[in-house]
Amino acid sequence: MSDTPETASLTDVPARRRTLLAALGLGVGVGVVGLPSPAMAAAAGWSNPTRGTLTSGYKTPSRPTHTGWDVAASQGTPVYATAAGTVRDIKTNSYPGDTSSGPLPGRSGNSVHLNHADSYFSYYGHLHRVLVSAGQQISCGQLIGLMGNTGNSTGPHLHFEIHRPRLTSVDPRVFLANRGITLGSTAPVGSTGYPSVSQGASGWVPRVIQYLVRARGISVVVDGGYGAGTVSAVRSFQSGRGLYADGLVGPITWTALVLPLREGNSGDLVRGLQTALNARGASLLVDGGFGSVTTNAVRSFQSRNSLVADGLVGPVTWSVLI
Ligand SMILES: [Zn+2]
Repeated sequence: MSDTPETASLTDVPARRRTLLAALGLGVGVGVVGLPSPAMAAAAGWSNPTRGTLTSGYKTPSRPTHTGWDVAASQGTPVYATAAGTVRDIKTNSYPGDTSSGPLPGRSGNSVHLNHADSYFSYYGHLHRVLVSAGQQISCGQLIGLMGNTGNSTGPHLHFEIHRPRLTSVDPRVFLANRGITLGSTAPVGSTGYPSVSQGASGWVPRVIQYLVRARGISVVVDGGYGAGTVSAVRSFQSGRGLYADGLVGPITWTALVLPLREGNSGDLVRGLQTALNARGASLLVDGGFGSVTTNAVRSFQSRNSLVADGLVGPVTWSVLI
């Protein structure tokens, strides 16, 4: 998934432009900095904004003006505030391919701009839905929107930026890593651990669901598209387990779907695991065989995410993986 640089107008601009931007109301924390509100003063923590695959990096050689990271997952994946603060601006009327101009330009799609304590700010682009309004006080890890594909974007993903005071962008992956958070992987503060996935979603998460459902003997096509066939298969799984059969895979259904796995296991559960590991950077053949290569990929994922690197896939590893 990729996009064009969204907030070039807000980032890394020469000092005299900053003054102009501040005068236009685009600058944040330049010149006059008010005393933080009690809510902002209490903000100490930081949160991963969402979970997904890192698809495009900060100021890469091929995209030197890309001042954030792109994190891809299914449309509708929850997006959370990276820290407590206030909603500075939102854009809610964008559409795929929108390139209109404005304080939050169309190329960033539906988007949210949060102000944090000490004049930090963060920015979330390409959202499917914005769930907050301008001026609203936000807590760290609060749900602020759903991942989408609005604006200049080639697939559902979050474009995420963090800025230090005086409009200098930072590499958000490094910034969060310094605070013990792996962008895209660490469970966001306030999240239930598993994403909610419903009809219309596409990508590796629905593909994992399809493998896990098929592993229970329910017929479903594994194509990564969460269509009517998958909804019906999930309903069938839910009914069989005595769960509310809404066809939507939320935390309760996820917990029922995943089973512990270890070397020597085989079948569709392992294919689901291998698909998720590949989405997290492994390069496994999705063959349904849990051999030493898959064990090494599990260990590597576990150590990267501060889990016990035992190569066993239990509930904790599953919940961080998905
Ligand atoms: Zn981006």
